[in-house]
Amino acid sequence: MTPVNTSPKRIALSIVVPLYNEEANVETLYQRLKAVVDKMGVSYEFVFVNDGSRDRTLALVQELSRQDSHVRYIDLSRNFGHQIAVTAGLDHTVGDAVVIIDADLQDPPELIAPLYEKLQTGYEVVYAKRLSRPGENVAKLMTAKLFYRILASITNVSIPVDTGDFRIISRKVVEALKLMPEQNKFLRGQISWIGFRQTFVEYDRAQRAGGETGYTYSKMLRLAIDGITAFSDFPLKLASLSGFVVSGIAFLVMLYTLYSRFITHNYQPGWASLMISILFLGGVQLIAIGIIGEYIGRLSTNVRQRPLYLIADTNIQE
Ligand code: UDP
Ligand code: MG
Repeated sequence: MTPVNTSPKRIALSIVVPLYNEEANVETLYQRLKAVVDKMGVSYEFVFVNDGSRDRTLALVQELSRQDSHVRYIDLSRNFGHQIAVTAGLDHTVGDAVVIIDADLQDPPELIAPLYEKLQTGYEVVYAKRLSRPGENVAKLMTAKLFYRILASITNVSIPVDTGDFRIISRKVVEALKLMPEQNKFLRGQISWIGFRQTFVEYDRAQRAGGETGYTYSKMLRLAIDGITAFSDFPLKLASLSGFVVSGIAFLVMLYTLYSRFITHNYQPGWASLMISILFLGGVQLIAIGIIGEYIGRLSTNVRQRPLYLIADTNIQE
């Protein structure tokens, strides 16, 4: 018996959308995406990844998939987080070009056409750079800005500032991403690391259409630490650097103490200085251990080699 060739026919464009409690946005999102791709006149697929939503997101997506064969969905077994949801989606795309877009319509679907056009002019990655971010609170804007600047200054991979994951990438880049097995995903860093010709298109970010952000502060902090530890050894260097500086100062203080004790005989029972140096050194040591711990934690995660995600249900046939 000859095996049947089940490889799906070539598709020009895949659109990956991670969804976490997005019931308020699914319908509008679908309508706007549909309008865009229809106008573009290319063959396409939608890959909706339900990241363990606790609302009706999955039901809505399944309903769409029954009405429209372009709609493929992946239902993850629980909430794995945005980056892994996107990765799961990418793993199951077949398009020659793949768009990553948020479900909450903060990334305007209408930008997909210019992104696609730009990609055709000889690039492998075209990312969408946000000019403005209305409707986001000041703390989020400040921390995001700070994070991108810090990251840019301590890593030698040039990760573009003020861009999220909204972008279009070529099949080549998708395949390269699949070769990167790290568990703590920081896709925009990984895509920069991959290289090839990359460029950007600028846009004004919209407000969230409905529902609430699924990115809690703890999820943002985790993403930030993942980004830094995956693309920079600077924190480790910082730990040893501060160790040297503090030891240097401590050495000088020691000389001074000996000098006062034996030469000038001018000394006080040094309770204050003793306490200060003990506390200070203790603090520096804890920081250093903490930083090393962050890296070791990630090492052990990768050594475990667990699958990145588990799929509960999907209508995609391999
Ligand atoms: N998201 C996800 N898993 C999560 C959190 C978010 O798949 O654990 C999705 C969410 O549905 C949206 C995108 O990731 O499509 C961006 O999330 P959100 O809009 O909440 O983040 P923000 O724009 O506030 O940074
Ligand atoms: Mg959002």
